[in-house]
Amino acid sequence: MAMKLAGRPVVEGMACRLAPRIDALAQAGVVPTLALVRVGDRPDDVSYERTAAKRAEALGIAVRRTVLDEFAPQEAVEAAVAAANADASVHGCLLFRPLPPFVDEARVCGLLAPEKDVDGITFASLASVFTDGREGFPPATAAACLEMLDHYAIPVEGRHVVVVGRSLVVGKPVAMMLLRRNASVTVCHSRTGDLPALMASADIVVCATGRARAFGRECFRAGQVVLDVGINFDTQGNLCGDVDFAAVEPVVEAITPVPGGIGSVTTSVTMAHVVEAAERQAAARAAR
Ligand code: NAP
Repeated sequence: MAMKLAGRPVVEGMACRLAPRIDALAQAGVVPTLALVRVGDRPDDVSYERTAAKRAEALGIAVRRTVLDEFAPQEAVEAAVAAANADASVHGCLLFRPLPPFVDEARVCGLLAPEKDVDGITFASLASVFTDGREGFPPATAAACLEMLDHYAIPVEGRHVVVVGRSLVVGKPVAMMLLRRNASVTVCHSRTGDLPALMASADIVVCATGRARAFGRECFRAGQVVLDVGINFDTQGNLCGDVDFAAVEPVVEAITPVPGGIGSVTTSVTMAHVVEAAERQAAARAAR
């Protein structure tokens, strides 16, 4: 039976490390503050907003919500981001995506100040992921994969990692972050040939495809570590990952559950980014 890489201990460890930093900011008169910008009432956005607000409150991070009508025009969405940029008491901004199809999402993302981009949606943040730069922040989910590996002291250097999925939100950034840690990374996608054999050849597999229970026993072997980033619903409406957990868990060495795995760590990573953003902005103000 595999070791279950649960998110809760990771979240608790992160909270312990963040507490003294939040206290230090409070002593300097700074309350780390996250602006949440939501367009419409998509159930997964509303649910994530609730989770984020709860986590923020537990840590002592303030949240400001801006909720726009589902038919909000481009100018209104841009104005919400511009308001977060202009407000010195806001340190980070999380924009729920995808935006409605009539809104130019790339343009809106491009408007966000990189120093407030706690979810890695600006070109500046993504460039930093690829160049090891200091601008912005990496996408929170990709960073959550690294937090998970670090918490459970799973070595990366010199190991072969197969990342399944090549989105800018998860697959590509996590591949770059693992490469920086000296892993040998293979990035796979929907056109990859003989994917099961490639996956089975890896030491660590990261699945981020959005395909409910698409990867079964044939893709894995004993001794592997599996990070399942997928958040999907099966045909019965049950929340599940990309990996067929019941079939794979008896085979591999360690695996993240869904729910209770990477997804639960992602929110804490966002909060850690807000705290770091507040620290960086306070330091920049002090240096002026
Ligand atoms: P996405 O933008 O739809 O990208 C999916 C990727 O998976 C694409 O690169 C696609 O390949 C690849 N893919 C699809 N089917 C495949 C298959 N059968 N075999 C191999 N590769 C396949 O999705 P995403 O935004 O990266 O999200 C992926 C999953 O992570 C979703 O379940 C999402 O809900 C979850 N997620 C979780 C969190 C969190 O934990 N908080 C955050 C973000 C996303 P092509 O490029 O060839 O199309």
